[in-house]
Amino acid sequence: MYTVTNPTTGELVEEIKNSTDEEVRAAIERVHHGYASWRRRPVAERAKIASRAAELFAERADELAAIMTQEMGKRINEGRGEIGIVVDIFNYYADNGPTLLADEPLPINGGEAVIRKESIGALLGVMPWNFPCYQVARFVAPNLVLGNTILLKHASICPRSATAIAQILHDAGVPEDAYVNTFASSSQIPWILTDSRIQGVSLTGSEQAGISVAAEAGRNLKKSVLELGGSDPLIVLDTDDMDATVKTTATARMRNCGQSCNAPKRMIVMDDIYEEFVDRLTEHVAEHYLPGDPADPETKLPPLASAEAADEVAAQVEKAVSQGATLRTGGHRVDRPGAYLEATVLTDVTPEMDAYTEEIFGPVVLVFRARTEDEAVALANDTPFGLGASVFGTDRERARRVAEQIEAGMVYLNRAGGSQADLPFGGIKRSGIGRELGPLGMEEFMNKKSIRL
Ligand code: NDP
Repeated sequence: MYTVTNPTTGELVEEIKNSTDEEVRAAIERVHHGYASWRRRPVAERAKIASRAAELFAERADELAAIMTQEMGKRINEGRGEIGIVVDIFNYYADNGPTLLADEPLPINGGEAVIRKESIGALLGVMPWNFPCYQVARFVAPNLVLGNTILLKHASICPRSATAIAQILHDAGVPEDAYVNTFASSSQIPWILTDSRIQGVSLTGSEQAGISVAAEAGRNLKKSVLELGGSDPLIVLDTDDMDATVKTTATARMRNCGQSCNAPKRMIVMDDIYEEFVDRLTEHVAEHYLPGDPADPETKLPPLASAEAADEVAAQVEKAVSQGATLRTGGHRVDRPGAYLEATVLTDVTPEMDAYTEEIFGPVVLVFRARTEDEAVALANDTPFGLGASVFGTDRERARRVAEQIEAGMVYLNRAGGSQADLPFGGIKRSGIGRELGPLGMEEFMNKKSIRL
């Protein structure tokens, strides 16, 4: 069942039945059939449609933001911001797609060759609820411009976002059989992947979902791209403006109520400024992140996406404290209806505690003390994940030296995470396989055909 439950109130808004096996098979046939003609459209035409999609996303930003607020509790302004980057993504691939897809000449021994960049067919997208529009755009925009067609299975808590996105794409001129939304259940995914009409799969979500989808794709010799979790480090080497550093790091962690895969979840602070950083951060988080209605633009702390998610994060915090961590502020469910959890700061987390290695997907900051640069790097890398990392410091060379030692798919200097259309995004280790966005985001489901001239 696809179910919309407003996490601000707990009210059940809508239930939609899962697609039947028959309906899913028909959807597969549509994207397979649609591929034959979509791939033959000139790239410039597909790019023009992507550009029109960007315009429609911009026009419907308020409507989409309101849907996300209702479905998963996103702050209304963050919802509008999310649509801003969706617009950038569609524009990026509309503007750059034709150049990125041009033949690449390759001088070879004894002659000449070119690499031709072709689509591979119908793809399955399995998408999460945390950025209902952005996550879909990252996968869909490059692949539609490339000429692949898409069967999209969105998270079961955001069917309204899924429907609104499909509507925009069709209104922009994407044929009904080049992009098909399905309300398949996750238990139908394995047999969708056995179907020879589906050529690959991209999943953004939890490790468990990633493992299951990648295993099934592998069994069927199909490519998978995985964007999974993270427990990204943010190292503070020094600062000449503690207030600004505290605010920047807190904002990055609390974005989307802490439910971002690439949020800095572990602040690693040098010994000489650690106490001051922790005190100011604790004060700032306790004063600034007060619960409220996400539809109110003044609200700083919205609910999590569901009551289950809030309970789970509260239980992770409780366990960390029972294992010896220090709770500086927050840590409890808020006494009001809805999936609220207090904004939380934890310190003294040690390697024996679960919180040291697991991802905490909510408004919880962990702060660690590092005595040397080497210790900071070792702490940063002591994680099963490797998505993004940030290094803050007044000495650029020093910050860069530290950044270069971090094992992650992305590193940011003096800025905390984030995402932009032209910068590749993705992780290593348990954070995933493959890249999205930028030029690399168009290569994952591409047949780079060698043509020996
Ligand atoms: P899930 O991974 O369960 O959901 C993401 C998507 O995968 C949904 O469409 C879901 O469908 C689908 N899915 C779930 N299990 C399977 C499966 N076995 N086979 C195929 N598809 C599957 O995320 P949750 O919503 O449960 O979130 C839990 C955790 O996932 C978070 O705490 C966080 O760690 C991580 N996460 C990471 C995200 C990221 O941006 N990297 C985004 C969201 C979550 P359905 O909704 O129908 O179950």
